Amino acid sequence: LASRDFHPENTVISIGDVKIGGGELVVMGGPCAVETPEQIDEIARLVKAAGGQVLRGGAFKPRTGPYSFQGVGVEGLIMMAEAGKKHGLLTITEVMTPEYVDVCAEYADILQIGTRNMQNFDLLRKLGSCGRPVLLKRGFSATYDELLNAAEYILAGGNPDVMLCERGIRTFETYTRNTLDLSAIPVLQQLSHLPVISDPSHGTGRRELVEPMAKASVAAGADGLIIEMHTDPDNSMTGDGVQSLFPDQFAGLLQDLEKLAPIV
Ligand code: PEP
Ligand code: MN
Repeated sequence: LASRDFHPENTVISIGDVKIGGGELVVMGGPCAVETPEQIDEIARLVKAAGGQVLRGGAFKPRTGPYSFQGVGVEGLIMMAEAGKKHGLLTITEVMTPEYVDVCAEYADILQIGTRNMQNFDLLRKLGSCGRPVLLKRGFSATYDELLNAAEYILAGGNPDVMLCERGIRTFETYTRNTLDLSAIPVLQQLSHLPVISDPSHGTGRRELVEPMAKASVAAGADGLIIEMHTDPDNSMTGDGVQSLFPDQFAGLLQDLEKLAPIV
């Protein structure tokens, strides 16, 4: 079902008046984690003002250590839904376990599957009937074939609206947090009809590299970008402040991107 061989036309995912995979660039922006109502409201305002279409934010955070901040949970879903509605943005949030799929689908427009859960097959099966588009992140050590097989679980479960996301893979290089595999963008588009989204934030882990790698992703043909932005990155509640753009950087990037590709 994921293969281009049996489905030559691109899949276009329509949510409200946003079309993903239809030739126009979709930009998802926001904090790593939803923190407070004020924080997500202000960031939503800035994402909208910059020309983004989707507000990102994690209410459930997959942290490497068990003592790190784990997200504000369902309260965060509610805060983000309100901010999205107020500012006219769609919302995307990560769901980590099958039990939380229904509540995440109730509050968010798009469900994100994180890199650590790409092969959580029970979760993938549950997404087949969640009624929401899914952004499936590539596992940080997964091959293209493994990513496409993970997408296949969701598609086979009856959900045709799957986006593939390149978010960087683990290599021997330690200067960057991950190595953003730009080749994934054209390769996945050749192998599959599903939209391909690039995440230069987790793909590099360094703020100063987000802009060039976002532009490179668009030049390579990405259908969309998911980018971390925070009003106070140095005091963000996850360690991802170091890769979060400041609002003016985010706005400047979107202006530059307009020259490379039309934004919906
Ligand atoms: C995130 O988007 O904040 C995130 C945790 O991403 P990943 O699953 O790619 O690490
Ligand atoms: Mn993050």
